[in-house]
Amino acid sequence: MNSSGNTGAYATAQNFTPAKTKTMKKLEDLLLLGNPQLYERSEPVSETELPLVMSWVVDLHNVMEEIRAKYGFGRGIAAPQLGIMKRLIYINTDMPLIIINPEITGSSSEMFEVWDDCMCLPNLLVRVRRHRSLTLRYLDENWQEQEWFVEDDLAELVQHEYDHLDGILCTMRAIDGKSFKWRR
Ligand SMILES: [Zn+2]
Repeated sequence: MNSSGNTGAYATAQNFTPAKTKTMKKLEDLLLLGNPQLYERSEPVSETELPLVMSWVVDLHNVMEEIRAKYGFGRGIAAPQLGIMKRLIYINTDMPLIIINPEITGSSSEMFEVWDDCMCLPNLLVRVRRHRSLTLRYLDENWQEQEWFVEDDLAELVQHEYDHLDGILCTMRAIDGKSFKWRR
């Protein structure tokens, strides 16, 4: 899937000592639907910010764990969801992945429909249309360029998180006025 193997990302998130950083975020720091910051475009990460990226990733990791424990979902999170207005995504499905300054360099013309969820609107499902597959180019935690081809559920996840970097929520991509469902 990913050419780098990405064992480094996991080691980074695990070995960092969150207690020592002032920026440690909690579930209460997660921005919720309606917060104007969620509609802002995030800035690229610069190479000099790489040490900060590591602390941001710990925050993203920890808050996603809290979401998983509370709501039972969460495969990825984008930095702006915590008010960190940087083009950084943290995905943790079978393996943690740190994605810096991503670009979607190609996407399939074939689309599919999915009920999307989002940590910023935890009980709301939104019916959206996503590209079936895409290619993502990004920098990893070692500032090395990576290319990742994703399909289906991962493609949908990447498009969702990428949208966050541009200030786009899944609510803004709802297929129609009935594309909303409340989850108990
Ligand atoms: Zn989201």
